[in-house]
Amino acid sequence: MKRKILITGGAGYIGSHAVKEAVRFGFEPVTYDNLSMGHSWAVQAGPFVKGDLADRPGLVKTFQKFKPTAVMHFASHTYVGESVTDPQKYYRDNLTNAMNLFSVMLEKKVNFFILSSTCATYGNPVQVPMPETHPQNPVNPYGDSKLMLEKILTWYDRAYGLKSTFLRYFNAAGSDESGKIGEVHDPETHLIPLVLDAAMGRRKNITVFGQDYPTPDGTCVRDYIHVTDLAAAHFLALKRMMETEKSDFFNLGTGKGFSVKEVIAEAEKVTGKKIPVQMGTRREGDPPELVAQADKANRVLGWKPEHSSLKNILETSWKWHQAYFGKSKKA
Ligand code: UDP
Repeated sequence: MKRKILITGGAGYIGSHAVKEAVRFGFEPVTYDNLSMGHSWAVQAGPFVKGDLADRPGLVKTFQKFKPTAVMHFASHTYVGESVTDPQKYYRDNLTNAMNLFSVMLEKKVNFFILSSTCATYGNPVQVPMPETHPQNPVNPYGDSKLMLEKILTWYDRAYGLKSTFLRYFNAAGSDESGKIGEVHDPETHLIPLVLDAAMGRRKNITVFGQDYPTPDGTCVRDYIHVTDLAAAHFLALKRMMETEKSDFFNLGTGKGFSVKEVIAEAEKVTGKKIPVQMGTRREGDPPELVAQADKANRVLGWKPEHSSLKNILETSWKWHQAYFGKSKKA
C-alpha cells in the first residue's frame, strides 16, 4: 500500500510540483488547499480537498478520511514586502494556521512533518555562501513567521516526538518539464516571470531594482533553484526522516548565484527576444547577495539539483509562460 502524504498548499506553485513528484517517489499525495492563491487545475495527482487550515473540524475530517502518514506544509503567504505592511496576515495565517495543523497531527498521531522554510529566516547575510548554521535574524515578518515555526517544531519534537525537517529554500524558479504546471502569482513580484512578461510584450519593460550593490555588476545576486529539484528534495528528506526518526534542516539552493543582469541576459538568449530594461532604485529589504552553502542536502540526502542550470530554469519557465499567458496580452 502506498503511503499517503497530506500536502497543504498542493494547488500552489511549489506544492503542485511536490504533488507531482510524490508519485515518482512512491507516495500518494492528498492535496489540502483553500485555493486563495492556488488553482485546482494545478493538482495533477491524487485527491484534492478544498479546505482552510483555520477550519479545524475540516482538517480532522480530512485526517480521518485519508489517514496520512506525513504532512508537507506549503500553504503560506510568501510576499516579503506585504509581510512588512500587513504582519498580522503573516502571523495569523503562517503561524496560527500551522499550529492548528500541528494540533490535529498530535491528536491523530501523525509524527512526520516537512516545513517549507526559507533563507529569509537568516536575515542579512554575515557570511556568503550561507551555511545552515548561519545566524537566524530575519528582517521581515515573513522570515520571522517561518523561523517561529522552526522553533515551535523543535520544542514539539522534544515534548511530543513530532519529527520535522525544515527545508530552507533560496529562490524557487522554473516549471515542470511537462509544461502543465508552473508559476502563477497574483500579483506577480518575482524577477523571472516579470522578465518573461517583458519578453512577451505583456509589460513594457523590466525594472532592475538597484545597480549600486557591492556585487560584480552592481545588481543583486540570488541562488535560483528549479522547482522540480526543490520538490524532489522534500521526498528524499521525508524518506530519510522516516528511516532515522530524526528531525533535521537543510538549505535548498545550488551554491551558485546569478545577478539580475545575468538573468536578463540569459532570458534574452533563451527567448530570442530583446528585453527592454529600465534601471530603478533599490527595493527595500533586498540583501546584495543570497547564495546557499548547499552541500549538506547532497551529503546527507544524496540530493542533486540536476534541473537547476539557469538555462533550464529559463527554458522551462518560458515554455510554461507562453502556454499559460500566451492568450492574454496585458500583465
Ligand atoms: N528584482 C528586480 N526587478 C523586479 C523584481 C525583482 O530587479 O521587478 C530583483 C530583486 O531585487 C532581487 C531579485 O530580482 O534581487 C530576485 O527577486 P525576486 O522577487 O524574484 O525574489 P526574492 O529574492 O525577493 O525572493
